[in-house]
Amino acid sequence: MSTLNENIARAQAHMQRFREQGVMNHINGESVAAVSGETFETLSPVDLQPLAKVARGGASDIDHAVMVAQKTFKTWSKTSGKERRAILIKVAEAIEARAEEIAFTECMDTGQALRFMSKAAIRGAANFRFFADKAPEAEDGLALRNDTQMNVTSKRPLGPVGVITPWNTPFMLSTWKIAPALASGCTVVHKPAEFSPMTAKLLVEIAEEAGLPKGVLNLVNGFGEDAGKALTQHPGIKAIAFVGESRTGQLIMAQAAPTLKRFHFELGGKNPFIVFDDADIDRAVNAASFMIYSLNGERCTSSSRLLVQESIYDEFTRRVAEIASNVKIGHPLDPETVVGPLIHPEHEKKVLSYFDKAREQGATIAAGGEKVGEEGCFVRPTLFTNATNDMVIAQEEIFGPVLTAIPFKDEEDALRIANDTEYGLAAYLWTNDLNRAMRLTDELEAGMMWINSENIRHLPAPFGGVKASGIGRDGGDWSFDFYMETVNVSFPRKVHQVPKLG
Ligand code: NAD
Repeated sequence: MSTLNENIARAQAHMQRFREQGVMNHINGESVAAVSGETFETLSPVDLQPLAKVARGGASDIDHAVMVAQKTFKTWSKTSGKERRAILIKVAEAIEARAEEIAFTECMDTGQALRFMSKAAIRGAANFRFFADKAPEAEDGLALRNDTQMNVTSKRPLGPVGVITPWNTPFMLSTWKIAPALASGCTVVHKPAEFSPMTAKLLVEIAEEAGLPKGVLNLVNGFGEDAGKALTQHPGIKAIAFVGESRTGQLIMAQAAPTLKRFHFELGGKNPFIVFDDADIDRAVNAASFMIYSLNGERCTSSSRLLVQESIYDEFTRRVAEIASNVKIGHPLDPETVVGPLIHPEHEKKVLSYFDKAREQGATIAAGGEKVGEEGCFVRPTLFTNATNDMVIAQEEIFGPVLTAIPFKDEEDALRIANDTEYGLAAYLWTNDLNRAMRLTDELEAGMMWINSENIRHLPAPFGGVKASGIGRDGGDWSFDFYMETVNVSFPRKVHQVPKLG
């Protein structure tokens, strides 16, 4: 295993081109500056030093990218599924070949620890492979017959689509959205998050080098309120696949209303991790800790609300606090690091603000609750105990390595607390009582539930939330349903009587 210093040297070598040339937009196969010539800086969360200048795109850049995506849609949508599959498999292979560059760049741009990000490229490539394999059958439909008619359904790619992604795990999330769009025959304009734009540029370059025709995937960097907004308002864009905060989802829906777009929203979460006293406690302690302290807690499916049965609450939270105090905080490229710096000082300020709110409302800080060092955005993994579900630390998405533990009495109490939130993304249920698991999974308000398990993804399974956590599902055929339009053609089965008027 390489040392931290070796990794830093390698990361600097990988990122040198960004330092020298900046992170440009990428439209029609060309690396281009913003039309306005404006740039902004992306910072290293480790020491807040600028990593690179980034093109600050706006409405004119979006116009250009959409025009290109409309033009390339004419050919890409008619490229056979078999051929799209072959190209996207090559993209997957090319991603794997540059796994280190992707992982190191992602760590430096986001602050996520290498032990988790080392899999970013593998996960991204898996997304491309999985959706590529489905491309040849993407148009398939059903034959629906009645006495007189035979209805035949089929699917067609929707058109140019907009993909807007957040900063937490940008490479994996971008591939998760872009791969099925391309497999469906759509062309894409991607607007990555301004806090971590680097690996989106790698993705489009890698894809084109692997054979994706120029202009099928286009990249416009910039801020949400200008480039993002312009993309959502553009009449040439037929759908918006968005991953981000619930509040931003509301804005996007309003912005896009005049152009009647299709939306897929993957939004925030405040996910209950429910532990009954009959559960395997050792495994539950590890799973609860993993789901909040991995990926810096900047994870939509994190176990951010820990609901533990009263009889085991003290022991359980004592053990989680011990883990929180022991995990290594450090440089994201240190192979031992579990918790790296949070993405940006603005986000760090938000996370730190919850420590005062917890104290004010009477919760106990059983672990962490402070910033680490003066340099960078390092926050100690934190556990709040003696919390109640009406506290802001139990209701608001903190999006950091911060866990709120709430005791419950019985099944009814657990269910009431679990559902008492505006969100409904994921729920984790730990019990060895099968009947209880059946009862609760019928009642929990969440799009995804894991029983006696942490979040383990299976690409054919649906991914998405209910309530304020989202609209629509990704994964398997659900992704194709989003990026494709179903059409119905009706044939007469015999010469039937047509109604005569007049
Ligand atoms: P965010 O909503 O602030 O930003 C996400 C993206 O939207 C960025 O690219 C941003 O520039 C853009 N944006 C902002 N305002 C916009 C506007 N008015 N119009 C168009 N685009 C706009 O989210 P974030 O802070 O980057 O990410 C964290 C959030 O993402 C958390 O709430 C987290 O739960 C959520 N998330 C959800 C999932 C999921 O699958 N449900 C996965 C990862 C992250």
